[in-house]
Order: sequence, then C-alpha cells, then structure tokens
Amino acid sequence: MKIESIELYRVSMPLIYPFRTAYGDGHVIESVLVKISSQGLEGWGESTPWESPLYSSEWAVGAFALVRDWLGPQILGQEIESGDVLQEQLSMFKGNPMAKASLDLAWWDLQAKIQGEPLWRVLGGQNKIVDIGADFGVMENLSSLIEKIQEAVNSGFKRVKLKFRRGWDVEMVRTVREFFPNLVFHVDCNSSYRLDDLDLFLSLDEFGLAMIEQPLAHDDLLDHAELQRQIATPICLDESIYSVDRARQAIEIGACRWFNLKPARIGGITPTLKVLAEAKKGNIPCWIGGMLESAVGANHCIALATLSNMKYPADIFPSRRFYEKDLSFPEVEISGKAQVKPQSGPGIGCTPERSQLEKHLMESHKL
Ligand SMILES: [Mg+2]
Repeated sequence: MKIESIELYRVSMPLIYPFRTAYGDGHVIESVLVKISSQGLEGWGESTPWESPLYSSEWAVGAFALVRDWLGPQILGQEIESGDVLQEQLSMFKGNPMAKASLDLAWWDLQAKIQGEPLWRVLGGQNKIVDIGADFGVMENLSSLIEKIQEAVNSGFKRVKLKFRRGWDVEMVRTVREFFPNLVFHVDCNSSYRLDDLDLFLSLDEFGLAMIEQPLAHDDLLDHAELQRQIATPICLDESIYSVDRARQAIEIGACRWFNLKPARIGGITPTLKVLAEAKKGNIPCWIGGMLESAVGANHCIALATLSNMKYPADIFPSRRFYEKDLSFPEVEISGKAQVKPQSGPGIGCTPERSQLEKHLMESHKL
C-alpha cells in the first residue's frame, strides 16, 4: 500500500478513579492515535505511553512529536508492503518503540481492511474467545480489596492481578491468600524493587503466586535472571521486553518464565509476532497486557490475544471500567464469563468517535 496521508492526535482521557500503581496515582491516560490512509481506506493505531515517562522513557508529547517530525515523514508517500518493510524504514531512528508502534498498529488495521478481513484472522488467530483477568490497583484498605476480588470471582474471572508497592505488599498478599486459598493470582511490581529486596521475594514463595510481574528495574535482565535462580515463583517480564532482541536475550539467560506482551511497548504488531515466535521456541508462555488504551488500542490487543501461546487471561478492560465513555466505538464489552471477542468487521472493527476525539484532544497534525 502507498501511505497517502497520516493524521496524528494526542488525547488526554480522564479516568473515573485514579489508577494506583508503584508509579504513583494516575488521573488521566494520554494516548497518541494515528490514522493512515491508502486506497480510500483508513487504518487506526493507538499507543499509550502516558503523560510522563514513568512506565518507560517515552511519553505522549514526545511520541507525538517524534511521529510528526521524523517517523511519519519517513514513510509518507512510500509503498509499504509489509510490517517488516515498515519497521525497516523506521529502524534508522533509535529506540522509541511506543512512537513506532502507533504507525505499525495503524498499518496492520489498514492492511486487514484492504484484505477485507478482521485483523485477528489476518494474524492467524485461533481462539476467538479471549479470557480476561481482573486487575486491582492499590486500594484504601484490605477489606475493600477483598470485596472487589470476591466480586471478580463471582463474575467468573479466572485470575486476578494485584498491584504491589511498598506498604501494599507481603501483608496484602497474605490476607488475599487467607481469604482465597485457591485463587489464581499474581502481583505486578512495576519495576520498583532491586536485588537487595531478595528476602521480600523469597517470602512470597509460600503464597503460590502464579507469577511476580516485573519486580526489578524497567530495563534490567541480568538481575532478574539472578532473582529467578533464587526464588521458586515464576517471574514475568513486562517493561524489560521492549524489543525482539531483549526477548531473545531474556530467554537465553533465564531472566523469566513468562512474558507480558504489549504491542505498543514492543514497537507494534510486527515485532510482537517475532517476540511470540522467540517465546514459543524458548518455551515461554505469554499473555497480553494493557496500558488503559481506548477501544482502538484494546482491539489490537484482543486480536493478538487470539494467537496461540497466549496462556494466561489478558489485561483487556471493558471500557466502562476506567472511562465514563470510551473515546472509540464500539466500546469494549465483556461477553459471557469474563471474556471478550474480537470485532467481526474488517481490521480492528473500531475507530475513534469524532465527538469524543475532539472533546479529549490536546493537539493534532496532518502529514
Ligand atoms: Mg505490568
């Protein structure tokens, strides 16, 4: 396809309530949405690096500027026949996988539309029904958390993920395990600990957690490998896996036993498919994570979650969990027992709603 035009939108989407993690308390989600056009069709991509560089070194204002000034002009007017060609074009610019992902995701949506097929089918998806998990941030007190977990269990969620930070740590896990002896659950540390905290992680082994997500630094592999050698609970890497090479190296040195895959963090669908192939070779099961994207970003995640080697319920949230009204349409809804289905229309089957886009717009640009 020839990339005929590129439109960029940076939006700020207010959350119904703050999302509390080891990074602090988030009140809005900043997202970069990209529309690329070719052959009278449009494809949408969404990358959510957030308002400030807390999750990774990227942030929404920076990602928007990079796509506007460098990445977009690099592919505008070019014939881009595959995701590999797109990535090759962008590869002269170092790093910035989240900015690159916005274009890659839009390219895949458009490619699937040109083929007249839903994206999940173009990717070779096999499980049309995707299990999703329940996630809970840091709460006011433990009794509120127990209540929320009970609701999730009653609604059929097959696993629970709990944010974990200093002051909301081992005692929280102990309490949850006492109330729910058979619950499949894990904790996400969002890179806030160091190898000096080994004793804390050893003390978690007795609770039978499904995994400990990203315990150590956001860009570390070596210390994670050392920690994994010393603790019995599987480590899942999230922040640290931001490229295909990082995934390969993590497997090689035994830095983890799970990957949480977020297409935006890895640079889009093209590199995520390669990470999945590496993971399969290295016997590392995967699951899909989320960055509280609007339904556009969520639908890319849902399409990837239909692929094989996705072995744990995904972090895909119904729109109304965090937003009064989703920026994109149709909204993400749970069907059946804690499950979502990909849209049946071509591509991701979802676009931003014009009035919502204007309401939450911070800046836009057309190339
Ligand atoms: Mg995580």
